[in-house]
Amino acid sequence: MVISSNFVPPSGAKSPFEFTGGKLCLDFANTVNNRTSDHAEELLTDYPSLVKWSEEAGILTPRNVDRLHLLAGEAPGHAQSALRYAIQFRDAIYSVFAAVAGRQPVPGTALAMINAVVQQASEHSRLVHSKRRFDWEWVLPDSSLDSMLWPVARSAAELLTSDDLDYVRQCAAGDCAWLFLDKTKNHRRRWCDMKTCGNRDKARRYYARKKA
Ligand SMILES: [Zn+2]
Repeated sequence: MVISSNFVPPSGAKSPFEFTGGKLCLDFANTVNNRTSDHAEELLTDYPSLVKWSEEAGILTPRNVDRLHLLAGEAPGHAQSALRYAIQFRDAIYSVFAAVAGRQPVPGTALAMINAVVQQASEHSRLVHSKRRFDWEWVLPDSSLDSMLWPVARSAAELLTSDDLDYVRQCAAGDCAWLFLDKTKNHRRRWCDMKTCGNRDKARRYYARKKA
């Protein structure tokens, strides 16, 4: 399976997931709503939801999805462990990029966790030649319950070592805490999503002004 970086969201189905981060690793970090509030909402509630996120993110094919559901059905305990591991990895990604965005010291344990998955990813990938260019191909992507973490780890490694790192931002809306890559021309994007957080934040400040 060659994983494309071009994300095409599936149409129709209603999903709790949003892909506004601009990078796969940031979208994965954004699978908790209102993370910094007292009403944080976990979106990866079970193993099937992790698979669903991965399919919507374009990193698993329908065939991979079927196979992982089969594996998870045969070994529910392992699927539960894979989910716990994925959440731990996701929180490590969040910690590192939130620290970068906030110009804070990067927690060493979180970076070590990312490195561990980056190493697993490189053990399961190889370069293939196709039409005068090269692509990464994943080796046996549907043999391991946490294989969806490999492309996420690669995305994190690429972003951490790229010039784009300077443009990783955290949403300015109160509790949101979602991360995104600010690709706007003047680099002054403030919200993960103008339609939700942007409007909510503007409304909140409007009423605060009115009250004052
Ligand atoms: Zn937001």
